[in-house]
Amino acid sequence: MSSSEPPQSGSDESSGNRELHWHAMDADKVRSDLSATGPLTAQAVSERLSKFGHNRLPEARRRGPLARLGNQLKNFLIYVLITAAVITALLGHWVDTTVILAVVVIQTLVGFIQEGKAEQALSAIRHMLAPRAIVLRDGGQKKIDAAELVPGDTVLLEPGDRVPADIRLERCHNLKIEEAVLTGESEPVNKTTDVQPADAVLGDQLNMAFSGTMVATGTGRGVVVRTGPETEIGRISGLLQDTATLKTPLLEQIDRFARYLSLIIIVAGVVIFGGGLALSGLPLRELFMAVVGLTVAAIPEGLPAILTITLAIGVRRMASRHAVVRRMPVIETLGAVSVICSDKTGTLTRNEMMVTAAVAAGKRLDIEGEGYEPEGDIRDGSDLADGSALLDELARAAALCNDAHLERHEGTIRVAGDPMEGALKVFAQKAGFDPETDGRQWPRADEVPFDTDNRFMATLNHDHHRHGVVYVKGAPERILEMCTGMVTDSGDTSSLDREAWTAVVSELASEGLRVLALARWPVDPSQNTLAVEDVEEGLELLGLVGLLDPPRQEAIQAIQDCHDAGIRVKMITGDHAMTASAIGARLGLENTTRVITGKELDQLDEKELTQVAGDVDIFARTSPEHKLRLVEALQALHGVVAMTGDGVNDAPALKRADVGIAMGVKGSEAAREAASVVLLDDNFASIAAAVREGRTVYANLKKAIAFMLPINGGESISLITALLLGLSLPISALQILWVNLVGSVILAMTLAFEPAEPGVMKRPPRPRDESLLAGFVVWRVAFVSLLFLIGIFAAWYWAMFRFDNEAMARTLAVNTLVAMEVFYLFAVRYLDTASITLRGVLGTPIVLLAVGAVILLQLLFTYLPLFHQTFGTAPLTVGALVFAGAAGVVVLLVLELETWLRRRWGKGADDSVSSGSGL
Ligand code: ATP
Repeated sequence: MSSSEPPQSGSDESSGNRELHWHAMDADKVRSDLSATGPLTAQAVSERLSKFGHNRLPEARRRGPLARLGNQLKNFLIYVLITAAVITALLGHWVDTTVILAVVVIQTLVGFIQEGKAEQALSAIRHMLAPRAIVLRDGGQKKIDAAELVPGDTVLLEPGDRVPADIRLERCHNLKIEEAVLTGESEPVNKTTDVQPADAVLGDQLNMAFSGTMVATGTGRGVVVRTGPETEIGRISGLLQDTATLKTPLLEQIDRFARYLSLIIIVAGVVIFGGGLALSGLPLRELFMAVVGLTVAAIPEGLPAILTITLAIGVRRMASRHAVVRRMPVIETLGAVSVICSDKTGTLTRNEMMVTAAVAAGKRLDIEGEGYEPEGDIRDGSDLADGSALLDELARAAALCNDAHLERHEGTIRVAGDPMEGALKVFAQKAGFDPETDGRQWPRADEVPFDTDNRFMATLNHDHHRHGVVYVKGAPERILEMCTGMVTDSGDTSSLDREAWTAVVSELASEGLRVLALARWPVDPSQNTLAVEDVEEGLELLGLVGLLDPPRQEAIQAIQDCHDAGIRVKMITGDHAMTASAIGARLGLENTTRVITGKELDQLDEKELTQVAGDVDIFARTSPEHKLRLVEALQALHGVVAMTGDGVNDAPALKRADVGIAMGVKGSEAAREAASVVLLDDNFASIAAAVREGRTVYANLKKAIAFMLPINGGESISLITALLLGLSLPISALQILWVNLVGSVILAMTLAFEPAEPGVMKRPPRPRDESLLAGFVVWRVAFVSLLFLIGIFAAWYWAMFRFDNEAMARTLAVNTLVAMEVFYLFAVRYLDTASITLRGVLGTPIVLLAVGAVILLQLLFTYLPLFHQTFGTAPLTVGALVFAGAAGVVVLLVLELETWLRRRWGKGADDSVSSGSGL
């Protein structure tokens, strides 16, 4: 019976009064107290949701805007600027004070907005990774957002699930739950359904599954008794702690770099101030402003913010390609991946299965039809197969030893549960067994659930005429081991010819079919329980079925893309070696001739394993422990390894891999939590897309650094040169502030949005330990700083020569620097290929917008009287503007030449070109 009325008296307290000892009550009493004697109806759920609220812990309060703004002020540069503002105010330079304070405000706002964007990106991701629960409601079994659970709901638990609420268990099968989060007990606890003493402490309430704990093995079913903050975990922690930040090793490296640099610059500033006072004879006021200018010039103030936003945009882009990043440092690692180890079923293949062949009593039958539609003939050669007792029995086994449900939704049939089991139900229907009506004649008394170590599943069913039978289905080698006889066409049993059956299995598998064997074991009607030991021998083989699971078209392309990008793809599957090999060949894997099975892997020592791991691309009949060994072996070969997984036992391999990738659809919560990336569509193509985004993000970080540092470098060397040589400053302190804020930040921001360069997936991966602040970037920073220095002084001297006016000379020096920056932006967008191409010159809309804005601001800076007073600028002639533009063109041409020479000599911006991983 389903219940629509909200819980009555006792259940009123269900979420409130913890004096109610659910563990001390009989399961039926629990249900009646909760007014939930059957699956809840949609109406009951919505009434309870409005009464008890969503099944979530209250979130920790986000930092408010004021706190975030305050955080921005905790920045070294801001302290320097505020000190400078105070001193200029004391000296009575009010204009300077105002400009410096304006800079503080702008800098704070820019940081504030960028951080807000990064936080938005993170919270969008959190939403995508909401935990889910399998629930039995009026409409059947469903996977729902765990937040939608209400007291009275019936929940199913599987290995690797995080228990979604406090649950009173009603059915357990080998159910063990890790409760360390709650009780500190590290061993998984054996659960039961028996009533427990009222005074049992939490760890002894063996018939309860508590929210937040993790199912280690076995399966279970129970009724939700408490949700959200009322659960035990809710009472302890109270709040959902949210620790996700965008900190990655690179950002920390840059933060540290910026801090050291600032310190060095301040010390240098003090030394220069002292030295200048003693030697240069410059007035104190001027000297002070020169040192402030130097300090501000040299510190790359905008860089950390730009890098954060680049990462945030990368995270968002990956999410739009169905790859959700859970641990931020992985964004950097993704671009360096050199081996991807992938599951087969559902990731490389479509996981839309169909039984196309069956072999019973030595006769092969072909099954026709489309998808999950139950129409299709069963043929014996070209004739229709006659119904036989054996085929009926095979169909019954396929339908009963099965947990999937078929649902018709808007005209198409969908499978709730495992698609392979869905296909078996369809097969049963085609053979004339209706899983709904006929299935009801054979209720299930007990089961041995499928697990990857056993590779089979068994059910114990009884009909209403005092017959009992165990049906078993699983990997054929395993089932053949367990059988001693086989059922013949007439329904009798005869002895089993294992070799002949093994040959049939190979034949089906070599066609790329996934093969399952079905067997039975008649039992005494009084037997009501089933254990693994019961079915390990003496079974009667019913036959084999071959399931077609076609490769995903997009995976074939993605594997090709990975090969072009120097990434090796390996398939690690639980399936049969020959099936794996046939599918591997269709997918275009490199080495499909040699397949290694889990058993063979077990025989290898570490050295042999390392060699095999590098050579072989297909690993069949593996279990999760093999994945861990393979990751370690591949890492020993210097590979940066991405590994996929879905089950609870995959967690160690996912943690150990450089990039652990969990399946969002069929993956367990345990796998999702161990992984650093979750695929929302379980699709291999999304991994390739994430690697591509990873490479793009890394390139964009590199571009942002290569763009911003030379600006600071060029400015500071110019000032130091002027001070050392006792020359007038070519650019004043305030003007430098202007350039850094207006030019640099606006232009550099566009680099965060740069799309992937065309060749991004045509290059080999970069070595895992490549430092961004080394090699090419250091060279570029030094070289461009020098170009900027030359440009600044050339502008200054040319203007002094033409106009003999310091204000004009400075204005021109600033305009020249900004023009060089603009052209340098175009050069930096293509680090390794020519920039002067149609695509390069047209830029992206955001680049053009930024350049337009910078030009407009420079015109105001040069021609608006207000700016003349504030920044000491003066209007320029058209000829002078042409000079500035020409300097920019020269920079672009020189860099184009440099790129060309580098490419000729084979030194790319990715110096990794020559260093393969050996895989
Ligand atoms: P992949 O590892 O690529 O996802 P897989 O799904 O074949 O491949 P497992 O889930 O480990 O890997 O399954 C291993 C084998 O166990 C399968 O090839 C099949 O023979 C058998 N098997 C899988 N699911 C079931 C099930 N529900 N009932 C019985 N046997 C099953």
